[in-house]
Amino acid sequence: MNNNTALCPGSFDPPTDGHINIIQRGLKIFDKIVVAVAINRSKKTIFTPEERVELLRKLLSGEKNVEVTTFSGLLVDFCRNQKIYKVLRGLRTVTDYEYELQMSLANRIMYPDIETLFLMTEGRFSHISSSIIKEVISFGGSGKGMIHSFVEKKMREKLLRRGD
Ligand code: ADP
Repeated sequence: MNNNTALCPGSFDPPTDGHINIIQRGLKIFDKIVVAVAINRSKKTIFTPEERVELLRKLLSGEKNVEVTTFSGLLVDFCRNQKIYKVLRGLRTVTDYEYELQMSLANRIMYPDIETLFLMTEGRFSHISSSIIKEVISFGGSGKGMIHSFVEKKMREKLLRRGD
């Protein structure tokens, strides 16, 4: 694995314009980004990990140096196995900061070779989170400016099927 590869982990449930912005900006810094969808079967999600991978691959189909995959278990174990030493995360709010600080410190205790690098959200994406989008779409609102139209369509299909 190339040394200037970064792992961009997350739930991506659903992938938003904010996620894609972080990945695309990251591609200007790193030679390659491995986008890794966390498998957490105990978390109630709208999309399965496989569906999220499919959505991300479609959203990032124009980007050459991106790989989309899933991972389960500890992020540091995945990085160690894949010989990845950098983690890319986005920061929006103070709440993000507190969580990210704890995560990055814990990861460095478990795997001292790892560095977490943060990109500040761009203003127009700062309010976007997967949970807000789930609320908006489930109440019949528009995801315009937050998620791609085909992600919105897939979300509506899912919500209809679930009867939400
Ligand atoms: P997790 O459950 O691991 O927090 P998310 O899918 O919610 O996964 O987020 C993955 C990463 O993307 C996190 O670093 C998060 O801060 C970042 N992120 C999410 N939305 C945005 C946004 N609108 N702008 C910048 N970064 C974002």
